[in-house]
Amino acid sequence: MKILNDKVLDDQLALPEFGKRIMSVTGLIQGLSAFHDNYFNHHRELFEQLSTGQSPEVLFITCSDSRIDPCLITQAQPGELFVMRNVGNIIPAYGTVDSAEGAGIEYAVQGVGIKDIIICGHSHCGAMKGLLQIGTLSEQMPLVYDWLKRHGEATRRLVLDNYVGLEAKKLLKITIEQNILTQIRNLETYPSIRSKLHSGQLNLHAWIYEIESGTVFAYHAELRQFILLENRSFPLPDPLITSVSAPI
Ligand SMILES: [Zn+2]
Repeated sequence: MKILNDKVLDDQLALPEFGKRIMSVTGLIQGLSAFHDNYFNHHRELFEQLSTGQSPEVLFITCSDSRIDPCLITQAQPGELFVMRNVGNIIPAYGTVDSAEGAGIEYAVQGVGIKDIIICGHSHCGAMKGLLQIGTLSEQMPLVYDWLKRHGEATRRLVLDNYVGLEAKKLLKITIEQNILTQIRNLETYPSIRSKLHSGQLNLHAWIYEIESGTVFAYHAELRQFILLENRSFPLPDPLITSVSAPI
């Protein structure tokens, strides 16, 4: 076995320039060690407390894409975000399939008692690019094709029917936005969500994270557009409730 001298070891541990860094499993193990020596050691009380249970208030649903990190961009600590991720941050409507997403939502809403659900898409989403060129996926990635075809069709149809002739970049942006709004509607089909929306115990939020600027845009229902999220949130009003007068 080759014995590493200090210089070689230092070079191996040094973080490569951002953008050129490739995190291998060896790198991850070094990260685990650094986490334990630093962050964990400074937050021992927090981890002891977390070992007895969790009570996050927010369910954060986002894409599996490695470029978005819910805890990093929100600066949330362990125990503060209940996170669900999949390809394209897609939530199948209630009853259409027995999905892991459905089980996760039920657990988060009924079991954990979360108060807000954020569904967060992101710029340059590969899944949304795939949705716009779905025909090319069926041979190469049949499972991704099935997933997008089955659960992304409402978004795809809306975009293709209503935004004909837009250049590719704008079409992708609109697809990312409309996909988020489709998922908000899908979330509202879940009994546990429907009930808590009605009683005002739950809010839904539609966000988009822009990779290149590190900023988040939130859907403002009155303005009917995504606007920069700064100091306050824009929970989505439930049109079925706001359009009906209060019960007598
Ligand atoms: Zn994505």
